[in-house]
Amino acid sequence: MECIIIKEIINVAKSSIPPFEEYCEEIKSIWTNHWLTNMGEKHNALENKLMKYLDTKHISLFTNGHLALEAILKVLDLNGEVITSPYTFASTTHAIVRCGLKPVFCDIEPDYYTIDVNKIEALINKNTCAIMPIHVYGNLADNEALEALAKKYNLKLIYDAAHAFGVFKNGLSVANMGDVSMFSFHATKVFNTIEGGALTYKDEALKQKIDLEKNFGIPGHDKVVYSGGNAKMNEFQAAMGICNLKYVDQNIEARGELYNHYMQRLGGKQGIKLCKPQANVKPNYAYMPVLFESVNRDVVFEALKLNGINARRYFYPLTNTFPCYNFTADNTPIAYNVSKSILTLPLYADLSHEDVDRVCDVIIKEL
Ligand SMILES: *Cc1c(COP(=O)(O)O)cnc(C)c1O
Repeated sequence: MECIIIKEIINVAKSSIPPFEEYCEEIKSIWTNHWLTNMGEKHNALENKLMKYLDTKHISLFTNGHLALEAILKVLDLNGEVITSPYTFASTTHAIVRCGLKPVFCDIEPDYYTIDVNKIEALINKNTCAIMPIHVYGNLADNEALEALAKKYNLKLIYDAAHAFGVFKNGLSVANMGDVSMFSFHATKVFNTIEGGALTYKDEALKQKIDLEKNFGIPGHDKVVYSGGNAKMNEFQAAMGICNLKYVDQNIEARGELYNHYMQRLGGKQGIKLCKPQANVKPNYAYMPVLFESVNRDVVFEALKLNGINARRYFYPLTNTFPCYNFTADNTPIAYNVSKSILTLPLYADLSHEDVDRVCDVIIKEL
């Protein structure tokens, strides 16, 4: 039997953190003014910086991305059915269900794993109120086709853009697509505020409603005008965001170089499929998905693990197969097969090129 000496463990992701001294410097003023949360100076500064970075006119920060998603569904006062894809993180489907809406699952297209815009129209009926596509792995859903459908049938278009921070298409920021986009700033995402999230939107009138929703419906002292929840981003989260934002461009660049290295080693190999760059898109290299067409995905997953490499079965299982629901994957066969055949490989800014080779060596041996 071959004896495997495990070097350092390589995980699928590693949270970006700024130099320790920079974070300490950023939070110093919190000790002077004793303002820890409730739309403080750090929160407001981060909103302004993100409006610039994401090139959006309106933004609201949240304690996490999931609550941002629930907040917008409540604020828009939606009823009925929401067309979405099951090829996503639990959050997307959970948010729809937890807001009393019914998810209607549309299959994905096989190249970028985003919702198949050609299959949406058949699912629209008089109860449909919104479409919630996901920019899976930072790959953009077909925003032009989605916009046209939303307009034709008068539906709200709400993007789960949790993976797509900093992505632009023909100069258009992902933050300006559809009615609303939700971003996640969770520790494992391209840009993080430890936990955190945001909504970006076009309608200025939404700002007041969203900000009431995340703060108990309280507009000021001695007033409660709406039965809102609590989903405010605190000052320590915002300070982390202010520090991390300074490094996000260089991190995305480093991710891009590692992505190219993976493409060089794995591209064109029999039995695997990679996501090619999308036309006219400035990507963020959030994830490195690899689809295994001939070998068993779980065999590769275990081989990597034996070699100290933690890849991730992402997204698996599909949200419409969760035992907490009574849905089915019968109408989403492409998503079902992709979910059984895909792995995301380690990718983060300071992953070394030697480590990329280590991962690729194990995979190539299994093909
Ligand atoms: C991370 C993520 C979310 C939820 O964001 P949190 O900030 O963790 O609450 C929602 N959708 C997708 C696709 C995600 O990856």
